[in-house]
Amino acid sequence: MKYDKNNIFAKILRGEIPCNKVYENEYVLSFYDINPKKKIHILVIPKGEYIDLDHFNATASEKEIIEFTKSITHITKMLKISSNENGYRVLTNIGKDGGQEVPHLHHHIFGGEAVGKMVV
Ligand code: AMP
Repeated sequence: MKYDKNNIFAKILRGEIPCNKVYENEYVLSFYDINPKKKIHILVIPKGEYIDLDHFNATASEKEIIEFTKSITHITKMLKISSNENGYRVLTNIGKDGGQEVPHLHHHIFGGEAVGKMVV
């Protein structure tokens, strides 16, 4: 599958569509989900053109992979929902059966309240 440069998150990264930004550095952008499922529902995306987690792990640099993973801890600490506080859930949808709608890799972060036993 080829990366679709017109997906909504690519447009956000290019500044063509606004987002409610939480955090940004050289490697990642994080913003509030437009349709929040919990009190805090944010997305974290790599800045590179990666379709999903498998594409990312197969082709991204080690630096990009490390920065993407570490950004979760940085951002949850910023939002005061880290493991030092009440905690949170990270969820990543991959492909058709995984329910992925936007073909640019993104982690969902849910928190700010008890998020329940499991997402089904
Ligand atoms: P997924 O089903 O894992 O691909 O999730 C895509 C997520 O992107 C959904 O939770 C949407 O609510 C969210 N979303 C779609 N468009 C936007 C947007 N313009 N800004 C913020 N979140 C968005």
